Amino acid sequence: MGENIKKQMVNTFNGVPWFGEQLKAGLIRKAQAMELLIGYPDWVIDPVTLDTIYHNVSVDPGELLFSVMSIKTETGRQKYHQSHSEPCINGLAQLHTIRAFYLGRENRVNIASSVLQLPSFSLHLPTPMQYGGMGTTLGHEIMHAFDNRNIFYDANYKREPNWHSAANETYMKGAMCLNDHYRPWSFGNIRTNGLSSVHEDICDNEGVKLAYKAYKALGELNERRLPGLNLTDDQMFFTAFGQKYCELDLNGIPWAGPTHNHPRIRVWGVASNSEEFAKAFNCPKNSPMNPVKKCTVF
Ligand SMILES: [Zn+2]
Repeated sequence: MGENIKKQMVNTFNGVPWFGEQLKAGLIRKAQAMELLIGYPDWVIDPVTLDTIYHNVSVDPGELLFSVMSIKTETGRQKYHQSHSEPCINGLAQLHTIRAFYLGRENRVNIASSVLQLPSFSLHLPTPMQYGGMGTTLGHEIMHAFDNRNIFYDANYKREPNWHSAANETYMKGAMCLNDHYRPWSFGNIRTNGLSSVHEDICDNEGVKLAYKAYKALGELNERRLPGLNLTDDQMFFTAFGQKYCELDLNGIPWAGPTHNHPRIRVWGVASNSEEFAKAFNCPKNSPMNPVKKCTVF
């Protein structure tokens, strides 16, 4: 799935009319060189290596605070060694967290095994739902290599010398269109984060497009339907996308996500910017979920 989505990134770049040839080649190289680390590193299933790596960590089922502090201390120690160029152990700091992220310096996407569960992923889900859930997460993280912070860097994290100001202007026009698109959305008294979340909004919107294209490229699927629901494949795709943002009711606690918009706004923002969503659910033109103006970055 990850490689299929990466392939769509390359296809997308090949179709961007405002990229110069050199810039296009550089970005495609970066997309192709990107490493996808999904699940867990091999050493996790080797008890001897696992014990060696975690020998500094003490976990006592009756001492939650002490156990967490012990894990945090070891995580900090490992981070320190990584920053001092000693051999690092991929993913050590992430095994106990539910995280998916992109690391610019390594040009690498990490998806922890803890993310590979419902509502994002299950092998028992129909394919459109796997792509709508986990696929859109992969698309989001892959897209971080090309968000407004990372796009200026090549596959080796060197400043891309062929990034021309004309390209920058067109790119930023798309980003600002998204910023305007999100501005009217609110949830209770929670408003959007404005410019501080624009890099995440780019990844949400372009990432869903990548996952959608990748699932469509699989051809006719003849998938089973969800019991009791007569959803089409496209409806299943977008339902899975929305479902992965399900959360506990915060009961009035203010949303404190400075770089991500509130989960509901993330879902509304992407769905109302998607022609495919509007088509799948027959949203009338110019209704809240299908405004005439749509924004695209690539
Ligand atoms: Zn992100």
